[in-house]
Amino acid sequence: MPNPQRLCVFCGGTPVTKEDVWPIWSRRYLPSTQPDYSIMRSILERDRRLHGSVRKLSGDPKSRRVKIVCATCNNGWMSVLQNEAKPLVLPLMNGERTTLNESKQKLIAAWAAMTVICAEYFTAGNATSLVVDRRHLFLRKEAPKRLRIWIGNFRRRKWPAYWVHNSLLISEHETPYPWTIGPGGLPRPNTQITTLTFGNLYLHTFSCPFPEILGSFEPRGTHVVQIWPIREKFIVWPPRATIDDRAADGIAGAIFNRLDAIGVAMRS
Ligand SMILES: [Zn+2]
Repeated sequence: MPNPQRLCVFCGGTPVTKEDVWPIWSRRYLPSTQPDYSIMRSILERDRRLHGSVRKLSGDPKSRRVKIVCATCNNGWMSVLQNEAKPLVLPLMNGERTTLNESKQKLIAAWAAMTVICAEYFTAGNATSLVVDRRHLFLRKEAPKRLRIWIGNFRRRKWPAYWVHNSLLISEHETPYPWTIGPGGLPRPNTQITTLTFGNLYLHTFSCPFPEILGSFEPRGTHVVQIWPIREKFIVWPPRATIDDRAADGIAGAIFNRLDAIGVAMRS
């Protein structure tokens, strides 16, 4: 799908160049082929019905490249961040013992934010990140405050998903963020819940412009540990609870389903 992005999503520079969302070093933690995957797009408004759609996309998502960043970012800070995060993220992908202090959590969170933001541009019109948050990542090399990130230790058996992306529009009239119109002529969603897996690493993120909503939802169970915003001074890895297929599926859908249920309650 062509992406109309003309300015670098991080620095605003031009021209944009093609970029691999999954760096080469992470590819062996992904399946060699993936026939298709689903995108769920829902619009949930306080005073309206929930409009949802599920679209199946074909092709292997990991071979996708997105044309959304400039060469200066791609070869500069993004490459530096990939290289700095790699020795911290590889033990998680391998399910190895490690410890994560606050500075390591911060670095992994910045890497995760960069990856999740780029992956959102797989589908034109579904990107939810705010310009100020992308600038924050670019300028400070730190994950945005409106993004929560959890990690878990995953043992896959048959769960097919490697990227689950749920996005929705939550409207509140007092919002300081005006709606932006996506390429399809529809308002862009502003809230997303994304799950990405790399080997044993289960990466789960939730972003929303409304702090009260962002802060009041937790993924189900205790299988995942929040690394952003930082909560724990020190995380011993792997955690006691391992994520099996069932938990993987449950966590991926938990927050979205609760937002959906509240939408149902509000319109009844
Ligand atoms: Zn740039």
